[in-house]
Parts: sequence; C-alpha cells; structure tokens
Amino acid sequence: MFCTLHPAKTCHISTDKPYCIIKNKAFFLDRDGTLNVDHDFVHKPEEWDWIEGVPETLKLLHNSGYTLIVVTNQSGIARGHFSLEQVESLHRWVNADLEKMGFQIDAFYIAPWHPDFHAGKDPGLLGERKPGTRLFLDAAEKFDIDFSRSFMAGDKKSDVLPAIELGMTPILIHSRFTTDELISWAESRQIKHHKTLTEAVKNSTYDIS
Ligand SMILES: [Mg+2]
Repeated sequence: MFCTLHPAKTCHISTDKPYCIIKNKAFFLDRDGTLNVDHDFVHKPEEWDWIEGVPETLKLLHNSGYTLIVVTNQSGIARGHFSLEQVESLHRWVNADLEKMGFQIDAFYIAPWHPDFHAGKDPGLLGERKPGTRLFLDAAEKFDIDFSRSFMAGDKKSDVLPAIELGMTPILIHSRFTTDELISWAESRQIKHHKTLTEAVKNSTYDIS
C-alpha cells in the first residue's frame, strides 16, 4: 500500500500508523560546474550549456525515485551583476528544457549572498550559502528527506562539506576549479571524485538504485 502523502514515491504505510514510515531520498546537486558549464555568473538561457549527458542522468535519477534538489550559491546577485528574478527565470527555462524529456528538477534553492557584499543585512542569512547547511535543512523539511539515503554532488569543497555534516554521501565532480590539492583532500577522506555527474552515476559503486 502506498503512502497517500507521497503516492509517486516508495513510501509504505505501516499497519499501526496512518503515515509513511519511509522518508524520501534526494539527489542534491550543485549547479555551475556540475549541471552546466561554469562560465562565471551564468544567469541567462543563452549562457547555459548542459555538461554532456547530464539531462539524461538527471532523468535516470528521477526515474530511480530521487527528489532532485539544486542548491546553488549565486553571489552575482549580492554583487549586483543580476537579479534573483533573472536566476529564477533561468531555472524555469532549465525545467522547461527538461520537461521535454518528461521530468523536472523538483526545486532550486538559491543563496544570493556573499560576505563581502552583506553590509546592513542579517548575518544569519549567510548560513544559506554553502558550505552552510541552512538550505539543505529547509529542503529536507519540505520534501521529507532522509539524508542518510541521499547524495550531494558538486565541484567544490563547499559542496562536499555540507554533505558530510548532514550524513549524505558526497560526490566530487571535476571542473575547471579542480586542483590536485582538492583531489588529495577528497581522497584522504575517502570521498569519490568523477569527471562528470554522468560518470559518477553510471560507473560508480554507489548504491544509486
Ligand atoms: Mg559549482
């Protein structure tokens, strides 16, 4: 019997409780350098270049029951390079592109802040910025996520650190920011690293299913 709260998921109602006992699994994703080529401050559809294979890999993850949640630092907003509305518009375009394949990313969480451009603002808001965990916790509450069954993939140490703190499996993706130092740091912590998200999902020893 499927849970009425999450009919599309694999929750089950226990015999003595009227709610599901199995929380959802999520694939948390960094954006720039993980999903799309990082051209610096990408905020328009014409600047969005999918990294090869990523849409198909996202569909595979979606079909495997993962809630797809992007958590992205967009300091270009704090710097005044572009607006939150422009970023949200870009994300709607990204989902319209994926919808052609029959699925969408479930949510985009945006941290628009940067400590160098934060005068006069609530300092607590900086906790939304990775490696802070605020947005991950917000998403977990909204989507009823079990971190222990979830992954976080990204191309920077600031993507890996919240995964470790919250008990997710971290995946480091190579990008133009990848250095020997970062690889050594990851390997010293038994964190796996892959050239692309597609390689990670298809060729890894992770239990993705
Ligand atoms: Mg990135």
